[in-house]
Amino acid sequence: MNHAYLEIMESYRNQQEQNKAARKQRKLVLYEKIPRIAQIDLKMSQISSEISKSLLKTPHKTDLLLSQLKRELDALKSEKSVLLTDHNIPANYLDLHYKCAKCKDSGFLEDNTRCSCFNQKLISKAYEMSGIEQQLEKQNFDHFNLNVFSSQILPKEKVTQRENMMQVLSESEAFVSSFPRSGNLLFYGSSGLGKTYMCNCIAKSLLDKGHSVIYQTPFSIINILEKKTFSDKNNPFVQMAYEQLFEVDLLIIDDMGTESANSFTISEFYNIINSRILKEKSTIISTNIKLSEIASFYNDRIDSRLKGHYKIIRFFGPDIRWER
Ligand SMILES: [Zn+2]
Repeated sequence: MNHAYLEIMESYRNQQEQNKAARKQRKLVLYEKIPRIAQIDLKMSQISSEISKSLLKTPHKTDLLLSQLKRELDALKSEKSVLLTDHNIPANYLDLHYKCAKCKDSGFLEDNTRCSCFNQKLISKAYEMSGIEQQLEKQNFDHFNLNVFSSQILPKEKVTQRENMMQVLSESEAFVSSFPRSGNLLFYGSSGLGKTYMCNCIAKSLLDKGHSVIYQTPFSIINILEKKTFSDKNNPFVQMAYEQLFEVDLLIIDDMGTESANSFTISEFYNIINSRILKEKSTIISTNIKLSEIASFYNDRIDSRLKGHYKIIRFFGPDIRWER
């Protein structure tokens, strides 16, 4: 745990260095483009130091001088802001830009509690999903292309695959916009139809909004369950990873049914699914199992929780093999 903790603190320090370097770079570019701003900044820093000097030396006699310096400073400030506006440069261009505005990339909020981004980093480490945000860069709602889906009516279907995916897309977007009061989703259908892609889109949007997300296959979850129960009981990091299965804002279990279910995993999965329903914490499950076979693959209790508490969303049509 401590090791993970130190690594995360280190990553915040690196991020802050990067932010400073990026600002320095933006400044150089700006000075090159509008040299007058470089002069203004220089003049402004000279005036500021003059102000502090005169305050130190002769605090009682400086009123007149001080107000004159402040007027100069204001004039320079407004000249600078006019220059920026004229060149269509945002007013905050030379401020530090943060990945997490809430904690300014420090990991901690003003009241010294851990920021949600810190918790997500712990979760990502525990589940080896570090860098998930970069991985998800391409699979998000902005890159979603409905045109890859067939627009032909298939036998026995009322709508085309593309029309169905429009529906799936709007359900998924609604899930994100009403989060954390979105309930649960069950994506089912054979592989290669976009279920994983859609899970990625949702995970990415919610991570961007600062929610915590565990996004895993059943194998890695079982791995944590086994460590917690058998091999690594007293490891606080494993303990935390286990607790987060119940506490995390969104749990996504992708490709359920690909694991070999046994009585241990079935009762653990039931416990997770049921506890999250009781706590009104959202879960998304995707599976290749047919709805009619959930009860026989798992058991009646899991079957009834999924069918009673999850919005069931079906994927169908030709395999477009884009999930690889
Ligand atoms: Zn933060």
